[in-house]
Amino acid sequence: MVLLGTGTPVPDPDRSGPASAVVVDDSAYLVDFGPGVIRRAKAAVLDRHITALEPANLKVAFVTHLHSDHTAGYPDLILTGWTAGRRTALEVYGPTGLRSMTDHMLQAYRVDIETRTNSEGDQRGSPDGWKVNAHDIKSGVIYKDGKVTVTAFPTTHAMDSYGFRFDTPDRSVVISGDTSPTEETIKACNGCDVLIHEARALDLLARLPDERRAFGAKNHTTSEQLAALAAKARPGLLIVYHAWISWWPPETVSGTQPVTLTTGRLHSTPDVLQKEIASRYSGNFVIGRDLDVY
Ligand SMILES: [Zn+2]
Ligand SMILES: [Zn+2]
Repeated sequence: MVLLGTGTPVPDPDRSGPASAVVVDDSAYLVDFGPGVIRRAKAAVLDRHITALEPANLKVAFVTHLHSDHTAGYPDLILTGWTAGRRTALEVYGPTGLRSMTDHMLQAYRVDIETRTNSEGDQRGSPDGWKVNAHDIKSGVIYKDGKVTVTAFPTTHAMDSYGFRFDTPDRSVVISGDTSPTEETIKACNGCDVLIHEARALDLLARLPDERRAFGAKNHTTSEQLAALAAKARPGLLIVYHAWISWWPPETVSGTQPVTLTTGRLHSTPDVLQKEIASRYSGNFVIGRDLDVY
């Protein structure tokens, strides 16, 4: 399990947009493609020696929902993967609307695709690598090959959304995507080896403006709720991601200007989140960082 991006919509240089990879032997299965996904995949090759994550080798991807923080790396995955050497169509599975998003994405880049594949194009020897087979999914088994079975389960977020369970020969991994706490996640994990789940600190929630607090309460999970959920789901390891935290100081000085990561400093610290969960949950857990491998 490789964490390629553990971030949120916040443009935090340490925390790329949400993206995780399940790696089985030399095959990689991507979940979400937030901004920065391809560069983090290459970093996993160079820094962690996980050659399965060579950008050209990213051929199968799953997306939990269509929020921009989880999909802003989509053209990067399609087009950089192609120019890096992928010669076959990308297979992508996700909620209703994925096919339409894919069609529009390819339309938006038609000039690039045309000029790379015409008689003088630099990719004319690989005329199919830009193609995408996008599959709109429902709950249940959505993918199976010799190495993994992937089961989608519904989550509770602002739009059609899913979490995924991966069953491999030696491990089971569940990834929540963005969601408020749900029985479906507990059922999907049920003693799984690894549960990757979003959370936000209570400390942060208390400081949010009203409309954002209401959105968060409906569509996301607090540290307290995650602790209760994990106690029922009983994962071997809980990895917390997509948390509104930063390893940077709340405010840092660049030249003479103070710089904050988010308007109004709307993030918490890893330390606070760690303590909030540890005081309520006795199982094994970590706060995930980009390029962590489990
Ligand atoms: Zn979302
Ligand atoms: Zn998100």
